Amino acid sequence: MSACPKIVLKRSKTESVRRFHPWIFSGAIKRMDDGINEGDLVEVFSEDGEYLAVGHYAPGSIAVRIVGFERVADVRTLWDARFRNAYALRKTAGLAGNAATNAYRLINAEGDGMPGLIVDWYNGTAVMQTHSEGMHREAHTFAEILGAIYGERLRAVYHKPHSSKASGKAGGQYLFGEKTGGIITENGYRFNVDWERGQKTGFFLDQRDNRAILTGYAREKRVLNTFCYSGGFSVYAAGAGASLVHSVDSSARAIEWTDENIALNEKFIFNKIGCCEHKSFAADVFDFLHDAPNGFYDVIVLDPPAFAKNISARHQAVQAYRRLNLAAIKKVAPGGIVFTFSCSQAVGPGMFTGAVTAAAIESGRNISILHHLFQPADHPVSIYHPEGLYLKGLALMV
Ligand code: SAH
Repeated sequence: MSACPKIVLKRSKTESVRRFHPWIFSGAIKRMDDGINEGDLVEVFSEDGEYLAVGHYAPGSIAVRIVGFERVADVRTLWDARFRNAYALRKTAGLAGNAATNAYRLINAEGDGMPGLIVDWYNGTAVMQTHSEGMHREAHTFAEILGAIYGERLRAVYHKPHSSKASGKAGGQYLFGEKTGGIITENGYRFNVDWERGQKTGFFLDQRDNRAILTGYAREKRVLNTFCYSGGFSVYAAGAGASLVHSVDSSARAIEWTDENIALNEKFIFNKIGCCEHKSFAADVFDFLHDAPNGFYDVIVLDPPAFAKNISARHQAVQAYRRLNLAAIKKVAPGGIVFTFSCSQAVGPGMFTGAVTAAAIESGRNISILHHLFQPADHPVSIYHPEGLYLKGLALMV
């Protein structure tokens, strides 16, 4: 692109770009054109003048977030290709065009070659979160592209800005259409998604596959779903025929949503199988587990928010995972199952397993791993960007 300002990397710092890692750290920059601002598209070159990549500039530790490794004539063509590839991937993965599941992640940031952008599809409404100024500026273009891909199926595009500059601006807004019903279907279960007031884009789509695995263990069992948010695991457990489901979250609104979602499915699913006693508790999970009777629950789900927001908080986070898992492992019934997760990007699978192992040793109980759990196919991870694997979990038999 002729008008694109240029950044030149130090000779010793081109290797990671050549291996398609999507971040360029500020320390790798040898020189850059004058007048480059946050959010500007820049072209990246080696000292020998070799073209390496194109990406969005931001001041700070990650200076460039790469959106392409090949020369592009114009950026709109690139965005079109990225969205169409992302849509094709969701089709291949059996999500786009699936009647039983009409909500999925369409754009998963680096995993779809779009660092700083999340787009979730909720049965006709696309909810977009921009985490960089560069992506923030393109929001209207992305809304147009969504219109071209989905046609009449697209009823609204809701933009929730989240970038450093943008967060000073107004909250979310509709770039296209307006709020219509937020009911989605996931594996046949119904959920009301409140993307305007909810966390992130409104619903935790990343647990879809793991919720389905839980159903294999929930029948006629007493299930405790902690950090329940809008009740994803609770609804699946009840639908699978659990004898009792307890849901816990510290947020009163989350508890309201959980109750609503249980009620939403009662009419459609639970009546048929004659389930189940559901009760929800607005409480701190650590306190709740402390007070829970020993051996009462057969299945416990632990899905806390990210305990480590960055690398420096990692040590404390690992200790928090250890304490949480110890509390659940101590309380679960003999032969019981603990589904335990971490969504901290800074805590990798090995470190998380280490924290759970430390809890297991401290509990003195005999424990096996039944499943290694991760994020689903609509949250793809570029093989060159292992940092993109943020959700990991274990299903333990105690
Ligand atoms: N499992 C959920 C997503 C969990 S998000 C799902 O599948 O949809 C994390 C939730 O933990 C949030 O709803 C937040 O309100 C809650 N939370 C955070 N800290 C908590 C604490 N100490 N005790 C109880 N809930 C907590």
